[in-house]
Parts: sequence; C-alpha cells; structure tokens
Amino acid sequence: MITHSAHEMAAAMAAGEITSEKLTQQHFDRIAEVDAEVHAFLYLDHEGALAQARTVDEARGRGEKVGPLAGVPLALKDIIVQKGIPTTAGSKILEGWRPPYDATIVTKMKNAGIVILGKTNCDEFAMGSSTENSAYGPTHNPWDLSCIPGGSGGGSSASLAAFEAPLAIGTDTGGSIRQPAAVTGTVGVKPTYGGVSRYGLIAFSSSLDQAGPCARTVLDAALLHEVIAGHDPMDATSADVSVPQVVNAARSGEVKGIKIGVVKELNGDGYQAGVRSRFEESLELLANAGAEIVEVSCPNFEYALAAYYLIAPSECSSNLARFDAMRYGMRKGDDDGVSAELVMNITREVGFGREVKRRIILGTYALSSGYYDAYYGSAQKVRTLIMQDFNNAFAKADVLVSPTAPTTAFKIGEKADDPLAMYLNDIATIPVNMAGIAGMSLPSGLAPEDGLPTGFQIMAPAMQDQRLYSVGAALEAALLSKWGAPLLSRIPALGGAK
Ligand code: GLN
Repeated sequence: MITHSAHEMAAAMAAGEITSEKLTQQHFDRIAEVDAEVHAFLYLDHEGALAQARTVDEARGRGEKVGPLAGVPLALKDIIVQKGIPTTAGSKILEGWRPPYDATIVTKMKNAGIVILGKTNCDEFAMGSSTENSAYGPTHNPWDLSCIPGGSGGGSSASLAAFEAPLAIGTDTGGSIRQPAAVTGTVGVKPTYGGVSRYGLIAFSSSLDQAGPCARTVLDAALLHEVIAGHDPMDATSADVSVPQVVNAARSGEVKGIKIGVVKELNGDGYQAGVRSRFEESLELLANAGAEIVEVSCPNFEYALAAYYLIAPSECSSNLARFDAMRYGMRKGDDDGVSAELVMNITREVGFGREVKRRIILGTYALSSGYYDAYYGSAQKVRTLIMQDFNNAFAKADVLVSPTAPTTAFKIGEKADDPLAMYLNDIATIPVNMAGIAGMSLPSGLAPEDGLPTGFQIMAPAMQDQRLYSVGAALEAALLSKWGAPLLSRIPALGGAK
C-alpha cells in the first residue's frame, strides 16, 4: 500500500489489515526497485527499521495504545543525527561518522513508533537548491529523472514522490523544505523558528535553520508536525510555548472569512508563466471556498536574498569551524612531523566541496574586523525591515501567499556552474526564514508548458502554524475535487506503484 497516505497506512495497521513489518518491507522493496535511478537515500537501516516495526506490531498485538503514526515509515534527511547511523550532511568530511546520540526530533519520532528507513541525500551541509552539491552524487526528480528534485532536501522530497516513504524530515534555512516540495509535487512545512528543536540538527546557519515535516498530504504533514514539535531544554532557541493545533486545523480545512494576502513582490517578472497561472487558479479556488483575497506589499523583500547570502555564509563560516579533522570524521595528511594546523588545512581542502568553501570564504570575509558592520550588521538590519514588512502585511491578512519557487524543476547540470542563478530559486522562500515565521508549500498543479509540478506557498505569523494547515487543507481539497485524484498519481516515471 505504498501509494497511500501516512494516515491511511496508520488506519490500516490499526484495523489489523497490515503489520508495520510488512509495510516497512514493502517500502524497502520499492526502494530496491527504484532508488538506483532516484538516488534519494544515502543509507538504509534495514535492521533497525524492521526491529522498530516489530516492536510497534507487538505493542499493538498486546492491545497497547500507540501514537497516530506508529508503525509508519519515514525518510530522514542526512543532516539530522541518529545514534549509531552514518550521518554525512552530504559531505565527504563526515563520511563514516556515526553520531553517539539522537537528535531530539529523532527521539520523539522513535517514541511515537515511527519507523526510520534511512538517511536521505542533501546538498552538502544543506547549501544548495538542487541536491547537486551532495558529495555523493545528485538525486533525480521522480517526475523527470533528468531534472533536479530541489534542494537542499531533494532526497527527502524525492523519496515521497517516488513512493519510497510516505513521510520525511527536512530542514529549511532558506527554503530547503518548501522548494523541494514545490518541484516534486509534495507538501513541506517550515515550522516557526523555535517551534521544533534544533538539537541534533547539524548546524548550517543557526538563526535560520529549522527542521520540519515533509509528506504527500497536508494532514500527514500535520500529524508529523505534532510529533516533532515542542519545547526542548537542549536547544537554547527552542520556544517554551504550547504546540500549535495543526492536526485539528488540517482536519477542518476551514477558510471561510479568512483573509489571504497575495504578496505583490513575490510574483510577476521572473516567475514562469505556468507557475503563475497555477497560482492564480489556486487563489480562485480559495476565494470560492470563502476566503477573502487581498493584495499586500512587502517592499523590503527585494533585499532579502542579498541579506540572506551574507547572514547564512557568515553563520556557516563559524559553525563549520568544528570540522577540524580532530573531532569528527575525516582526517587527511596526518603524517609524522605535520602540524595540527596543516592537517586541518589539508582535511578541509579535501573534505569540503566548492559551494561550502565559497560560503566559508564569503562568511569569513563578511565577519572580519572592519567589515562586520558594513556586511553582517547591515544584513541584520534588513532582517528587521523584513519583519516589519511581515507585521504590516499580517495586520491586513491572516496568511500571506505566493508561488513557492519561480520555476518548475530545471535540468540537472543547468545551473550547477552558476551560483547566483541557483540562489534565485529561493527568492520567495527566504523572507520566511529571515523573519522566523512559518511557511508551507503544497502542490498547485502541473505547469502546462513542461508538465512539471508547481508549488503554492502559505506564510503565517510566528506560532500561528495552524493557519498554514487550515488554508493548505482547504486548497488541497479543492484541487483534489478538480483533479479527481492526487497529483502524484499522474507521475510518469518509475513505472506503476500500488
Ligand atoms: N538554497 C538555500 C541555500 O543554498 C537554502 C538552503 C536551505 O534552506 N538549507 O542556502
């Protein structure tokens, strides 16, 4: 039953129609069948996953009450640590490293009975928009294997679209959950900053990074969101507030009387025609469902991308200093008489890829004495202006919307040598991270010109994540009745999945 949604799988297990062990095995069989082509996974934990599945089956057999996602398989982005399981963050520098502890969200998922199948491919240290920056080779988009699956969490999103897993975890620093969701026709949510623990997430840009749920339906994302969210004393930036009621919101999907603000600056020039027409169509469906559509303006979003590409590299240059050949992973050049400093240099030269080096150099420069105020300081001020834009817009609307990404999936290799073209993919997703608010991408259809998925982005104020799910569920329901079947049932590649 690999094409079903996670909540349908959970219901089938609860009704005794299938065991978690069998369901898990079906997913491993599917992975064996298609992952040579998709390359969503970097590591599979057959033994651990099947053991967890049997534990859930036994608990159910004893009549114990288990969580709503107990026994459901999940794919974990390889930038989240899992005890004893190789974790690379898509980098050679961590090849062979096995973390000695579980990330908080991994502990929560294990306690909820979720079955972690393995680790998914990503851009090195989550830096990228196409998963081509992985040291382990690119992931392919199941809609068209010659195209990128988005990034940095392309492995997680591709695993959902290829029916290799019904649930996945991603991380989103500037769009790495939402943009891959958009280009693979799946759902991805960046929760409010502080809403989900970052303990055990290998840090890229600490003031922006956020882990979140990826799924094929809005309700599935909500169910996973509630499992992983909540205050964590192990993360100093974790918010000590109650978890937003996202499952209720996803189940009701009510938009009557809700005001939806279309962000003027995140549409128009530079956005592919089919992306725009699908976006307009979604707005119409939401209006028909009873929402009020208004236009809002966020003039400072123009500077978001430039400011992001100072803040993220600056923070990464500091965070990645820990990969020093002494503490984790790779060590090269450690011969007699070679100084520790030189061993560090050699290891970092061999261990890091081009994009990571580019950002470390940029960030080190931006933070250097005499330049700090001009670059990092100014970028932080832009961040304040973006927050003010959001505050003004949220005074006029309950949620804001835009296309998630300016284009559908592009060809592997097309932008690989042009970092600035690559950075532009995140033009619509970055403002959400800069302000620490919540964002979702869900499929809005296929672009007529290339037949590839387009994404619809919803943005909600901090700690109002449930609004994403109300609006997302309403749009999903309207689109489903228009299409007659889920978008992914139209996926052409990879043969028929049942
Ligand atoms: N594509 C953006 C970058 O390269 C965002 C990455 C992310 O969200 N991790 O930084």
